[in-house]
Amino acid sequence: MKVEGKCHCGQITYEAIVDPEKVTVCHCTDCQMLSGSAYRASAIDAPTTYSLRVGCLQQRALLPPGKQIWCRSALDWAMNLQDVTRLSRQ
Ligand SMILES: [Zn+2]
Repeated sequence: MKVEGKCHCGQITYEAIVDPEKVTVCHCTDCQMLSGSAYRASAIDAPTTYSLRVGCLQQRALLPPGKQIWCRSALDWAMNLQDVTRLSRQ
């Protein structure tokens, strides 16, 4: 699947081919620190080894994660958001 993305300010843009079956949520502490969040979602681009942060991609809704890794480092609350109040807007 071809995806496009850009950095937050829009000065850097990119496109890549990703396998939607390889979209992964990583709960490791490195990804928590790098993303400033409870986990990081990434889509590995084969055959190269770099990854793209899904949060930057335009096609985020089309790339649901297929697996979670480093779950032993996961924050307890991040593993179950089903009971958290949901608002469609802030
Ligand atoms: Zn990680």
